[in-house]
Amino acid sequence: MSGSQSSLREANRALIVETVKRHGGLTQVELAAATGLSAATVSTIVKELLGGGFVDIQVTTRSGRRAQLVTLARRVGLAVGIQVGHRHLRVVLGDFTHEVVADQTLPLPTDHRSDTTLDRAALLVIELLERVGSSIDEVVGIGIGVPAPVDEGTGMLSVRGLMRGWDEVHIAHVMAKRLARPVYVDNDANLGALAESAVGAAREYRDSVYVRASYGTGAGIVINGNVHRGFAGTAGEIGHVPVDPQGDICRCGSRGCLDTVVGARALVEPLRASHGNLTLRDVVQRANAGDPGCAQVIQDAGSSIGAVVSALAMAVNPQCIVVGGELAETGEVLLAPMRDAIRRRVLLNQIAPLEVVPAELGSAAEVMGALGLVLQSTDVDVTRDELVEDHDGPALASGAGG
Ligand SMILES: [Zn+2]
Repeated sequence: MSGSQSSLREANRALIVETVKRHGGLTQVELAAATGLSAATVSTIVKELLGGGFVDIQVTTRSGRRAQLVTLARRVGLAVGIQVGHRHLRVVLGDFTHEVVADQTLPLPTDHRSDTTLDRAALLVIELLERVGSSIDEVVGIGIGVPAPVDEGTGMLSVRGLMRGWDEVHIAHVMAKRLARPVYVDNDANLGALAESAVGAAREYRDSVYVRASYGTGAGIVINGNVHRGFAGTAGEIGHVPVDPQGDICRCGSRGCLDTVVGARALVEPLRASHGNLTLRDVVQRANAGDPGCAQVIQDAGSSIGAVVSALAMAVNPQCIVVGGELAETGEVLLAPMRDAIRRRVLLNQIAPLEVVPAELGSAAEVMGALGLVLQSTDVDVTRDELVEDHDGPALASGAGG
């Protein structure tokens, strides 16, 4: 085989592996469509990759028919996804098929400290690995999602004041020191966007926006299949768009940010006189149970968030807006007024209506994105003929990478 033919073959192998890595598992027909390669080329390369132990074939059903999915081999390694929320910590272990093999959530106190939270996360990673009979050596990397913008270069928060006590913490270094694996840190809404676009509700779309309506509000922007983070990682920070000139001062220092209108505190406050002291979780549960007061608060939040999202949608022109976070657990209570507020404001086009849909991965979107970030950032070397297991040397910490 000539040099150019062999490098073309290698490029095609890499393209197939990247595509499988992104979506977790595809049929050979889907692989041909996604890569633009011919069915014969896909078939040849998949055979080679099977022979080298890089991929597996899993039998499943697609649209009622038996289908064979090409997935990356489990022995390529495990990835860890960690979501640090305002009130909880979630850790999952997954493999290169995007399949979760262990999953655990712990509650966190309000304004939890970075050192104890990262300690608990590291311990939980080791515990989950033991639970599935694996060790840290099998982990290719650790992805961490946090509810604040992250500097891609350093893996530190890029905006002060949003997570109390975390401003000076080099999150990636701290975790890499504890577990000696590469660590990637990103904003939770960006991770939700990554997961929903790779394996969730936006997987059929090229351009999408993920809205995370939770204790605070954020958005992740996907352009041409890639998350757009912006220069300082603050792209899509819709929670800090000013909406009320007479409003309260926000954690970020501005007056009347969207978060001061639809954040957890703003949602429970107007219910105090009629409903007593509720948590955000209570409000969501009661809205789902048909309580009109709690539903009203969520509906109003949907309209307010929708108005801001419509401006983002005008700037980005996505095909689809995916809505996740705790408030989205109320389904159409939140979604209907949000959809209405968005569609009333965006420029209607003749090509396709802007879809506004719930997150397919539900509350797991962010942690699945943390897992996906690791898979995306890890190179599987398919230029070698055989898959060789090597985990030499302690890995250096890095930022969001990619
Ligand atoms: Zn703000």
